[in-house]
Amino acid sequence: MIFEDMRRIINFHKVKDIKWFENVICLLKSKYTFVNENQLIRYYYNKEPLSRNSCMITVDDGDMTSYTIIYPILKKYHVPAIFFVSPEKMMQKGEHRNFWFQEARHCDDSNALMEKIHSGNYPIDDIWEIIDSYQQEHHIEILPNQNMTLKEVREIDSEGLVAIGAHTMDHPFLARETDSRSKYEIEESVKELENLLGHPILSFAYPNGTPTTDFGKREMETVSRTTCKVAFSTEAKKFSRKDDVYSIPRFGLSTGSPLFIHIKLMLGSHYATVKKVLKNLRSSQHVSKSFIKKILLELFGDRHFTLCFPPCLLGGRCRCIQSAQCHHSVGIRFSYMAVL
Ligand SMILES: [Zn+2]
Repeated sequence: MIFEDMRRIINFHKVKDIKWFENVICLLKSKYTFVNENQLIRYYYNKEPLSRNSCMITVDDGDMTSYTIIYPILKKYHVPAIFFVSPEKMMQKGEHRNFWFQEARHCDDSNALMEKIHSGNYPIDDIWEIIDSYQQEHHIEILPNQNMTLKEVREIDSEGLVAIGAHTMDHPFLARETDSRSKYEIEESVKELENLLGHPILSFAYPNGTPTTDFGKREMETVSRTTCKVAFSTEAKKFSRKDDVYSIPRFGLSTGSPLFIHIKLMLGSHYATVKKVLKNLRSSQHVSKSFIKKILLELFGDRHFTLCFPPCLLGGRCRCIQSAQCHHSVGIRFSYMAVL
């Protein structure tokens, strides 16, 4: 059954719209109890209880909007968080080096370059080679600094509301790297951050973050040998004491209205199932009644529910679902919301 346990760890990246972020934080504040890094560590290690609606905010990469948009809103509403940064990407003494994905998106806004890199199983040195030659071939200058400066990270760290965690040096897909490079990326980022901030680093987030595909046992063991007590993936499910402390799941949020975000978080790991149903609806593939029953049972257990299915959804002759104006497809969405 869903909705029994609403513990969620949320993962943001770059945020472009301050109003959107403020609305999301206000929504979360009205539904959840925020916890900080220390409370989460005590929950896993000391069995300290956390309420059923606990929520933790995390932000990856340390993009400059972490300082200009995210941090001011967190401060305004007193919301704790962890920011995961790379010590190599924080501008120091006027010099900077952006993340590979920032340069790749800048090179080619059609996303083809990003897709090539994602699908090619390339280690980080090859990724940089691909980007460098693309930039040279197309006479593209490297981007100005995109990330927080060391001064800004130190300021956030010293104020105590937001903890700073490590996120490797160069943001590779760790599982694609050699043993020594994988070890270096993790250990060096933790050590270097500790040197820069003057205290132990307690949290780590795997770049890209999908278990098995992006990191595995090897990486989890390396993190466990550092000062880090917890490490986070991007596996979208609720967190609980059953988690391995070096692979704690998180839900990614990047767009959508507060209502959409609320529904997404409530559905938790079932969101993927509902998305599949809605995708079938949009692509006008008819969904069988038994399939819908199966999905609903998966979502709601044997709890009674009332839903009105439009005839087109049940394989009837109606083809109006192909139209953007289709009131039937709107009808099914409202039906889902009524249940929620
Ligand atoms: Zn990242």
